[in-house]
Amino acid sequence: MLNLAIFGNPISHSKSPLMHNMAFKNLKIEGYYGRYLLEDGSKLKKRFLELKLDGANITVPHKEFAYNLADEIRGIAKEIGAVNTFVLKNSKIIGYNTDADGFFISLNEFGPIKNALILGAGGTAKAITHILIKNNIDVTILNRSKERLDYFKELKISATSFDEFEVSGYDLVINSTSAGLKDSLFPCKKELLSKIFKNAKFAYDVIYGKETPFLKLAKEMGLKIKDGEDMLINQGVLAFLLFTQTLFDFDSVKKEMQKVFRF
Ligand code: NDP
Repeated sequence: MLNLAIFGNPISHSKSPLMHNMAFKNLKIEGYYGRYLLEDGSKLKKRFLELKLDGANITVPHKEFAYNLADEIRGIAKEIGAVNTFVLKNSKIIGYNTDADGFFISLNEFGPIKNALILGAGGTAKAITHILIKNNIDVTILNRSKERLDYFKELKISATSFDEFEVSGYDLVINSTSAGLKDSLFPCKKELLSKIFKNAKFAYDVIYGKETPFLKLAKEMGLKIKDGEDMLINQGVLAFLLFTQTLFDFDSVKKEMQKVFRF
């Protein structure tokens, strides 16, 4: 019996328990995936071990704690510095990041992409940046404030705040900010976003479950659009494959997890 959970704060909104339990039930695996409200991220490892979990997902705001507390880090998580998946192997906690690959797989509906503009410079922007540059896509970062730009500049990525930004052409424009999540804000001034969209092909919002002002404007301006639902499902599928030691193929797990969003 696999014993799994997701840790975060807040956590009541998370779709991960539904996604994983749906896959367990329909793929006939004995397992249970619960949710755990964790206020103090430094207690993550202690609670993981006390709960005798075989694996876990870690969400906002504890992904950096997860990175620091894992016994070993594998894959792209090493570059990102954030972990969203723990797997217990031979009494060691192995940390992975499935957000980055989950995002990248979800781009397959778009055409070829040479360059991307990422609005935002938080944790999600970091994960997306690493997977894009790993796949030879040029990245530019545009953020509201200057404080978070140094991380990207150290990676030799063009990173500016709104007042210094000069618009140029981008195949893909990504909203990785939380603007539009609980409000109806654009991630930058509407006039600036319109200029950006005028020279772009695809618009992607990591927010899911609603049409944000960002996506609405992109659609009105004729861009091909996508929200963050597929990214969420893909990171879940990749985590599930790690939890179950890849007993199943990606598409059969995804088919089950997608059912959560179709009811
Ligand atoms: P962080 O808190 O790390 O970063 C937030 C970023 O958004 C910062 O760059 C911040 O700018 C910017 N921002 C916040 N509010 C505004 C605003 N009103 N206008 C302009 N910029 C704003 O958040 P995360 O990176 O962890 O999460 C970002 C989004 O990604 C959330 O909406 C989250 O729900 C979503 N997400 C989706 C996932 C999926 O699977 N689909 C997975 C993970 C996250 P500043 O530096 O100026 O404060």
